[in-house]
Amino acid sequence: MKVIVLGAGVIGVTAAYYLAKAGAEVTVIERQLDVARETSFANGGQLSVRSVGPWANPHAPGVALRSLGRADAPLIMRLRADPAMWSWVVKFLRNCTARRARHNLTLLRRIATYSGDSLAALCEDTAIAFDRRRQGILCLYRDRRSFDKAARELDGAAEMERAVTPAECTRIEPALAEVEAKLSGGIYYPKDESGDARRFTEELAAICREQGVTFAFGTNAVRFRATGDRVTGIETDDGLERADAYLLCLGSFSSRLARGLGIRLPIYPVKGYSVTIPVASQNIAPEVSIHDEELKIVISRLGDRLRAAGTAELTGYDARIDPVRSEAVLKGLFSLFPNSGDPKKATFWAGLRPMTPDGLPILGAARYPNLFLNTGHGTLGFTLGCGSGRVAADLVMGREPAIDLTGLGPERFS
Ligand SMILES: Cc1cc2nc3c(=O)[nH]c(=O)nc-3n(C[C@H](O)[C@H](O)[C@H](O)COP(=O)(O)OP(=O)(O)OC[C@H]3O[C@@H](n4cnc5c(N)ncnc54)[C@H](O)[C@@H]3O)c2cc1C
Repeated sequence: MKVIVLGAGVIGVTAAYYLAKAGAEVTVIERQLDVARETSFANGGQLSVRSVGPWANPHAPGVALRSLGRADAPLIMRLRADPAMWSWVVKFLRNCTARRARHNLTLLRRIATYSGDSLAALCEDTAIAFDRRRQGILCLYRDRRSFDKAARELDGAAEMERAVTPAECTRIEPALAEVEAKLSGGIYYPKDESGDARRFTEELAAICREQGVTFAFGTNAVRFRATGDRVTGIETDDGLERADAYLLCLGSFSSRLARGLGIRLPIYPVKGYSVTIPVASQNIAPEVSIHDEELKIVISRLGDRLRAAGTAELTGYDARIDPVRSEAVLKGLFSLFPNSGDPKKATFWAGLRPMTPDGLPILGAARYPNLFLNTGHGTLGFTLGCGSGRVAADLVMGREPAIDLTGLGPERFS
């Protein structure tokens, strides 16, 4: 079977890998000149399989309100006449009730667990190198009340998750010694991991090529062609490409192409920033991946580099770097790890998270039986990539996926 995968971010490339493994003849269409050049380029690096949680939760409106008027706040919304943004915000707020958040968390955990298992198997099969670290994720709290609440809410669903004291935080990650007094506690997920999403995608693309996958780089997908109940081709700026099946993995840009077929996907770009600094032998930098609950930043050690990422900005498709916001991430990193490296050597990046209002990806067929969606992974594309790719490949190849996909398909928005 001939399959066209649209988009060569972490999502498109993992799907291409599983499709090729299942015997499909795969072409990946990508407008950039290499894989992982947009949102998958320099993300936070967390594989937060056990510590996942939807952004739409009862705390989110409070975070948004406290952020008002602060240019360096974790969350900002640029007020603009953008109906897509406002419609997305309304849907997001509807998902912030305790009941919806619980429901979404259950679904998120299902796909995340499958993804973690799939990643482990992929790593064993391929020996892929991507600065993988299996030392867990430690979520840090400064505010006592927030920590007590988080500790109370632990439901034992994540393997070996546990609330830890500030002293234990330092035992888990000795680089926290200097700031231990500022902490009220942490939640430790020892089975979580981290790694470099770009390197993972590049290495997996090399494996895909060995399996016969073709990459059409520098090719812009413009619109689908459809006749009757089938998609018959994809028009690109290099001409018309045809296949038996099409898999949409265009991240934040998926909704634009889907709209041409009358399919409305509520995916909105939510901009985030990262900073990366080199770590030298004299530096004191963490090895355990960190999530600072107050600053809303994550920190991951990627070989001899340290990456901090965070902030959410609703500002349309503008991926430019705002220095105030990127400096806020850098400042957050150094507030926890003051001797972790030289801030003058920092490199800055911004990317657009393809966010759905419920924080769940969109996996399934859409209107046409030969058009499939694997998109909308928001804050969790690296974490969910392997599970989503495997499920998407099963759907395209007409096989039964190993997990129940109820609630993850595009029909939930209709
Ligand atoms: C600051 C930040 C921190 C993050 N941290 C984490 C983290 O710690 N852990 C985690 O799991 N996730 C994290 N994420 C989320 C994760 O990075 C994304 O969910 C993931 O990268 C999305 O992958 P994707 O393949 O869907 O999108 P992309 O990587 O954007 O890939 C889509 C591809 O489609 C291509 N494309 C678009 N339109 C067209 C077109 N018309 N024609 C041809 N090609 C096209 C693009 O060039 C791009 O290569 C973070 C994101 C950000 C911004």
